[in-house]
Amino acid sequence: MIKHLTVIGSGVMGRGIAYVAAVGGYETTLVDISEKALDSAQSEINAIFAKGVQRNKLTEEEANSSMGRMSYSSDLKTIVSKTDMVIEAVPEKLEIKKNIFEAIDQHAPDQCYFATNTSTMSPTEIASFTNRPGKVIAMHFFNPVHKMPLIEIIKGLDTAKETVKAANEVAARMGKETVTVNEFPGFVTSRISALVGNEAFYMLQEGVGEPEEIDKAIKLGLNYPMGPFELGDLVGLDTRLNNLTYLHETLGEKYRPCPLLVKYVKAGRIGRKSGMGVYDYREQEQGGKNNA
Ligand code: NAD
Repeated sequence: MIKHLTVIGSGVMGRGIAYVAAVGGYETTLVDISEKALDSAQSEINAIFAKGVQRNKLTEEEANSSMGRMSYSSDLKTIVSKTDMVIEAVPEKLEIKKNIFEAIDQHAPDQCYFATNTSTMSPTEIASFTNRPGKVIAMHFFNPVHKMPLIEIIKGLDTAKETVKAANEVAARMGKETVTVNEFPGFVTSRISALVGNEAFYMLQEGVGEPEEIDKAIKLGLNYPMGPFELGDLVGLDTRLNNLTYLHETLGEKYRPCPLLVKYVKAGRIGRKSGMGVYDYREQEQGGKNNA
C-alpha cells in the first residue's frame, strides 16, 4: 500500500507531480539538490493551491490538508529510506538519472517502487541501474501536470504486473487517465511532439515565417491547442533538445536537432523558465509573450 511518495527534481515537472500526489492523498516529499529550486517550487505550488481555491477546483479545507501532506527536502537518502514510491523528474541526461537510481536503490526499502518521468529514455536501461528491475516503470506526465489529463505508462522489459497495477492506481488517485504502452524510444507522445517541434525550428531557420505565423497556422489549421513554439517554450528548449538528441541517437537521422534550436539553447534562451525562448516573457509575468 503506497502512503508516502517521493518526487526527485523540483523543476517544471517535479513540482506539478508533487502537487497532484498531495491532492491525491499521498504524503509527499519533493527532493532537489538545489535549495533555490525547492523554494521556487514551494511558492509555485502554493500559488496553484490558491488559484485552485479561487476557481472552486478544490475547497480551502482540501487545499490546506493537501499542503499539510507536503514537505521539501535536499536529503535524498533519509527521505527515500522511508518511502513507498519514488517518481524521478531530474533532467533528461542518462548520467544524472543513473546516479539517482543507483542511490535510491541503495537507500529505499526493498518493496519501494521506482518510476521515471523520462520523456524518451528506456525504462529497461534505467531499471538496469537498480537491483529491482521488476519494480521500475516509466510514468510520463505532461506539462502543466495539474491541468493535463494523461499519464503515459511505459513497461520496461522486466517490469512486473504488480508495478503496472501500482502505477495505474497512483495515476487514478492523482485524477489522471492512463495509457499503458511497451517501451520504444520516445514512446507515443514524445516521438510526435519532438518531430513537430523540431520541424517548426527548421521552418524558422529557413525563413518560412515569423514564430507567431507558424504557431497560428498549426493551431487554427491543424487544431492543436498550442503552437509548436509556445509548447517548446513551456516544455523548455533545453529539455526539448535533450529529447531530440536522445531520439537522434536511438532512432536516427529524422530526429537530428535543428541547428537553430541548438543555438537558442547555447544562448540560454530556453523558454519560460529562463524568461526568454522563442518568445520573450520577461515583462509578462501574467503569461503573455512577445516575439524575442
Ligand atoms: P527541469 O530542468 O525543470 O528540473 C530538473 C530539476 O532536477 C532541477 O530543479 C534540478 O535542480 C534537479 N536536479 C538535478 N540533478 C538533481 C539531483 N542529482 N538530485 C535531485 N535533483 C536534481 O526539468 P523538467 O523539465 O522538470 O524535466 C524533468 C524530467 O521530466 C526530464 O526527464 C524530462 O524529459 C521530463 N519531462 C519534461 C516535460 C516538460 O514539459 N518539461 C514533460 C514531460 C517529461
